[in-house]
Amino acid sequence: MSHVLIIGAGGVGSVVVHKCAQIPEVFSKITLASRTVSKCEAIAASVKERTGVQVAVERLDADKVADTVALIKRIKPDLLLNVALPYQDLALMDACLETGVDYLDTANYEPPDVAKFEYKWQWAYKERFEKANIMALLGSGFDPGVTNVYCAWAQKHHFDEIHQLDIIDCNAGDHGQHFATNFNPEINIREITQRGRYWEHGEWVETDPLSWSMTYDFPEGIGPKKCYLMYHEELESLVQNLKGLKRARFWMTFSENYLTHLRVLENVGMTRIDPVKYQGGEIVPIQFLKAVLPEPASLGPLTRGRTCIGCVFSGVKDGKAKRMYIYNICSHEEAYREVGSQAISYTTGVPAMIGAKMMLQGRWQRAGVWNMEEFDPDPFMADLNAHGLPWTVVEL
Ligand code: NDP
Repeated sequence: MSHVLIIGAGGVGSVVVHKCAQIPEVFSKITLASRTVSKCEAIAASVKERTGVQVAVERLDADKVADTVALIKRIKPDLLLNVALPYQDLALMDACLETGVDYLDTANYEPPDVAKFEYKWQWAYKERFEKANIMALLGSGFDPGVTNVYCAWAQKHHFDEIHQLDIIDCNAGDHGQHFATNFNPEINIREITQRGRYWEHGEWVETDPLSWSMTYDFPEGIGPKKCYLMYHEELESLVQNLKGLKRARFWMTFSENYLTHLRVLENVGMTRIDPVKYQGGEIVPIQFLKAVLPEPASLGPLTRGRTCIGCVFSGVKDGKAKRMYIYNICSHEEAYREVGSQAISYTTGVPAMIGAKMMLQGRWQRAGVWNMEEFDPDPFMADLNAHGLPWTVVEL
């Protein structure tokens, strides 16, 4: 019986609230707080209609530590679940330290004025969280999140050593829009336009943005799709925590149409993150672009098709070479039927709920700041099957 405070009423936040409401024996009280309170109210109304559960709503600017501290002191949650934006991570961790409340998020901190995401800022909280005897679970979405848990599970049950890891993220869905991103457009475009990076023989190798590609034949009728090498945050912790790893890469599918739009937007300066002068004031082009693109939460009723996200492992077991693929396939339409959101929000929101459940049930509970692969993967893997993200294992 626990009270969870969920921060961020966007695409992912909506799924988390719906999924928590489905398990009242764990999440006996839910409060949703965000910058725009009308979005919280709309989510609360949908949850009430689908599950009968009453969600409390609050207006909050999560950049203001004092405001979050005041809210926590007033409503006394057991856990703060952050599904606002990566910019808010440190402010929310500060509020948790001040109030002695556990913390969970799905994306690592990124400074607003530099397109660079790294764990170093959040890992720097480890000692302070230990001293305060509270826990932070970082990256409990799908990738990062489930992909880290797949790695821990493969390591625990199927390999003596994993030598090569390829995380492959395929969205084979279609929303019918000329150009839209499936999660927050600003964060998404900043991530995709960065230089690529992968790990090989103990060091990082950089590539030009989206300059490397391969075609992967996805299972269960999805078929071959072109995937592009990118840097992704889970690589940073996995190369530290998977022993014997020689190479780790991350791949994502993009359509030609998406890449053409992105190239044009970049070429005309619309993806810039620095302020430019406009009509006597200043605007940040990527923030203006976000304002004119469809909101990820609005894509739910429009998106058809499936996602397929998984990990391909090569390594050794009992002296023999072994290759294995673990993946989940998620239908955009089924996600929409269940919680009113498309599969990208769904595949992020479900693991955020499960991570919170692991912590509140005491299955994953250790003071400090942790990544997902540092805990026993078995109860999390069981919950993925039970709560809408079943996985499949294939020996290759
Ligand atoms: P959205 O843009 O749909 O939602 C973000 C929400 O956060 C909005 O409701 C926004 O409020 C709110 N917000 C922003 N700033 C503040 C603030 N200062 N105070 C309070 N609320 C604020 O994004 P998504 O739901 O698509 O993504 C949410 C998070 O999930 C992101 O961090 C993203 O990186 C992460 N993610 C992780 C994935 C994974 O697999 N690990 C995959 C996909 C996403 P407002 O409505 O007023 O703008």
